[in-house]
Amino acid sequence: MKAIVVGAGIAGLVAARQLGSAGWDVELVEKSPGPRPDGYMMDFFGPGLQAAERIGLYPRLAAVTYQVEAVDYVDGKGRRTCSLDYNQFARLAGGKILSLLRPDMERAALAALDDVAPGRVRISYGAQVSRVWSDHDGVRVTVEACRRPPSPRTSWWAPMASTQRCGRSSSAPKTGTCAPWACVRPRSP
Ligand SMILES: Cc1cc2nc3c(=O)[nH]c(=O)nc-3n(C[C@H](O)[C@H](O)[C@H](O)COP(=O)(O)OP(=O)(O)OC[C@H]3O[C@@H](n4cnc5c(N)ncnc54)[C@H](O)[C@@H]3O)c2cc1C
Repeated sequence: MKAIVVGAGIAGLVAARQLGSAGWDVELVEKSPGPRPDGYMMDFFGPGLQAAERIGLYPRLAAVTYQVEAVDYVDGKGRRTCSLDYNQFARLAGGKILSLLRPDMERAALAALDDVAPGRVRISYGAQVSRVWSDHDGVRVTVEACRRPPSPRTSWWAPMASTQRCGRSSSAPKTGTCAPWACVRPRSP
């Protein structure tokens, strides 16, 4: 079976890994020139975390997690206006929670493609899917290179009517980071 996954974000990478592990040949197409460095702090818990455990991704995610003590909300001058106790938040979330930067999570999912047999998943960065359509015997996808000068168009064909997209605690805590609206305070060593 052949699949084309559009987008090598967290969902696309994990979908490609799972399909590749199940024996599919996967073309993963991402319009960015490489893994995206942009991102923010994410809290990962509940069904998403359970799924990560079930498919064996948890250790890779736990390896890039942050130890967060609190989230402080600040005003324009950086003064704390209120604070969220993270231990309390973690308890409300069932006790198991990972605080991760989006790009770290993406890199972990990219590294997890090593779990798949070589050649099963092929990634094309700098390539954009511009058209998806189906006919009686499959799904057709037009992919265009995003680089300049533009390269010729390529059309891929998946003989199956399905295009599918699914989803560090190093012992030493990492330092804090700033999300657009709040500062994440690392736990004291
Ligand atoms: C500020 C903020 C805080 C968040 N906090 C949390 C949180 O605490 N917990 C949580 O679970 N979630 C959180 N989220 C949501 C979470 O970040 C997203 O749900 C998740 O990152 C989406 O991943 P994705 O792979 O589905 O999509 P994306 O990361 O958007 O990936 C899609 C990829 O597809 C590529 N692409 C798009 N179109 C094409 C095309 N035509 N051809 C080729 N490539 C294409 C894009 O370049 C991109 O790389 C937060 C989101 C934001 C913005």
